[in-house]
Amino acid sequence: MNDIKKKRYDILGPKVAEALEARGFEAYYFETAAQAREKALELIAPDASVGYGGSVTINALGLKEILRQRGNTMFDRDLAANPAEKKAIEHAAFNADWFLMGSNAISEDGQLINIDGIGNRVAALIYGPENVLVAAGMNKVVKNVDDAWSRARNTAAPENMARFDGLKTPCKATGSCADCLSPDCICNQLVHTRRCKPPKRIKVFLIGEDLGL
Ligand code: SF4
Repeated sequence: MNDIKKKRYDILGPKVAEALEARGFEAYYFETAAQAREKALELIAPDASVGYGGSVTINALGLKEILRQRGNTMFDRDLAANPAEKKAIEHAAFNADWFLMGSNAISEDGQLINIDGIGNRVAALIYGPENVLVAAGMNKVVKNVDDAWSRARNTAAPENMARFDGLKTPCKATGSCADCLSPDCICNQLVHTRRCKPPKRIKVFLIGEDLGL
């Protein structure tokens, strides 16, 4: 990452964390991914159970592997043998002590915007797991909620579509949202998290380091 971008993130990150705190979130800005990992392992007790939603940020942090190796009880949908088992694990994860996920976009005034295909990820964000860890690179932070919706629909969703072979949507062909009603559409649940209640249930990690996403 170039120095100019890093300088901006190091100034903006703590301010966005402050804005998130004012809305009831527990929020942190970390200059590096290593610092974020260290804090996650400090917050998540070794005997805590952990579920997760699909997130390239969580994958990039390597948290799932570290927690598995540490012996945490994992609701490990990645290791499901078939779709029925995956669904059962996703249901069980609603009772986890922790749920790990990313966020499609975050506004500078501390609001989360997320879209979901099936809804298990945003459902756990809203209610269920005792704690939610939302990890996001500073590239996910945009000026306001309108910009956050635009990022979610025109950047995050087309990029997510590109990860799934065999699915067809207009954004996969053009790289931009066409507000489709395609059978394969992944923009089915659109969730705006304006505040965190109960307070501090959702921990937001803002990460300045370029995670290569
Ligand atoms: S084209 Fe469809 S799947 Fe793609 S971002 Fe828009 S609504 Fe979502």
